[in-house]
Amino acid sequence: MAEFLCMNHPHKQAVAQCRRCGKPVCQDCYDPSTGYCRDQCTKNEAVSSVHTSKKNVVLQVIVAILAIIGGLAILLITICGALILSY
Ligand SMILES: [Zn+2]
Ligand SMILES: [Zn+2]
Repeated sequence: MAEFLCMNHPHKQAVAQCRRCGKPVCQDCYDPSTGYCRDQCTKNEAVSSVHTSKKNVVLQVIVAILAIIGGLAILLITICGALILSY
């Protein structure tokens, strides 16, 4: 089996494989806290996590709007029910 060499340092032996791009990385290029290569994927992950938080904000707004609509619907049903019962 051939030894893996770091994608950034061809003279260094790879110690791990990036969890994201799957490329072999040496001790210097590997980030043990994330399991990604420091060079590309750690940066890309930071960018994509910003996108994720934006998505979460949109989701929260949608949930809030649905909650308001739900509250209004319950209020409407209550008013209708009161009107029907009053007859
Ligand atoms: Zn990577
Ligand atoms: Zn390296």
